[in-house]
Amino acid sequence: MAYTEDRDYWFEGQGLWQHVPPDYWNDWGWQLKNRITSVEQLEQYMTLTDAERRGCEHANHKLALAITPYFFNLIDRDDPDCPIRRQVIPREEEMFVAPEEMLDSLGEDAHSPVPGIVHRYPDRVLFLVTDRCAAYCRYCTRSRLVSNAQDYNFHPEYEQGLRYIESHPEVRDVLLSGGDPLLLGDRKLDHLLSRLRAIKHVEFIRIGSRIPVFLPQRITPELCEIFRRHGPIWMSIHVNHPRECTAALRDACERLAFAGVPLGNQSVLLRGVNDDAEVMRALVHRLLRMRVRPYYLYACDLITGSAHFRADVRKGIEIMQSLRGHTTGYAVPQFVIDAPGGGGKVPINPDYVEKVTDTEIVFRNFEGRVFSYPLVPGKSVPAEAQPAFRP
Ligand SMILES: *Cc1c(COP(=O)(O)O)cnc(C)c1O
Repeated sequence: MAYTEDRDYWFEGQGLWQHVPPDYWNDWGWQLKNRITSVEQLEQYMTLTDAERRGCEHANHKLALAITPYFFNLIDRDDPDCPIRRQVIPREEEMFVAPEEMLDSLGEDAHSPVPGIVHRYPDRVLFLVTDRCAAYCRYCTRSRLVSNAQDYNFHPEYEQGLRYIESHPEVRDVLLSGGDPLLLGDRKLDHLLSRLRAIKHVEFIRIGSRIPVFLPQRITPELCEIFRRHGPIWMSIHVNHPRECTAALRDACERLAFAGVPLGNQSVLLRGVNDDAEVMRALVHRLLRMRVRPYYLYACDLITGSAHFRADVRKGIEIMQSLRGHTTGYAVPQFVIDAPGGGGKVPINPDYVEKVTDTEIVFRNFEGRVFSYPLVPGKSVPAEAQPAFRP
């Protein structure tokens, strides 16, 4: 996966859809209506591999196929290993189930007091407000319910969810997710946000969304005005590869930032997509240029049919080591494993600590040089006793 970045290339334009009037192209309703949702449509635009064609045949029983024209343009149709292609075009490997895999690998259903609410941590809840997305990531952690391909029949229960939050004063943080909350219309979002804002103990509202990446046209001035009015609203977007950082995404992030929405990014470490230090470095640098702070890098959840996506966790640690100290601290996300079965997110870090004695902690810096720091005031190790440089 040799990756050479063209640092000033931000994809622009309508690609394969040159014939479409810009007013249509820039309309999010048009983008949704014209999504690619079948193998026949896909084959109008590209040659699928056999594994992809077989994957598409099964997709309707696992997780629907849908790709916006905007995002489809980012696929390199001549490269079967294209990192954008891997994320959204089904492959037959999706139908293989490894023994460690689960339908609900984070145990969300078991932590759900009312439909749509996942209450795992003491002071915050996840509020699932829809089961639809603009496009479907093939490694989706909620494929059991998202797109309803598995007949889960998720019905978002706003009133029940809101009542749960209202009656739990310990909930100071509400994370709207789904599905993608930004697929809701402006009126619905406005209503939901004002209801949440009216709850005295809710201090912090955030939205998890891949819409800026799949459908930047949705980030309209009207939507930004809703966020500004109900702000502060924080947002986590989901970018995995530097090629997703287009001019349209950059502009959408600018509109959000100018409306006062602090932006973070959550990436999933995916084999053949971003399990590479150079790719990840290019990604985090591009994110900062778009005013987006890398937040989490997730090990891929043990979701059914994800084996071909899961990268070696040791590779993730190595990538973290290649970032910390070597580049801007703001560019470095926290690598986490969301504990299988439902233990929450656990930080997985390179080990910088060499040893801890009664008097000192001994550790290495990003270059591998060894240092120590006293544990007890007044009992510090004299400077001349500091271990010498060890490569
Ligand atoms: C990820 C997640 C959160 C938010 O976790 P933070 O570490 O605060 O970003 C909250 N609830 C659930 C169930 C989650 O999976």
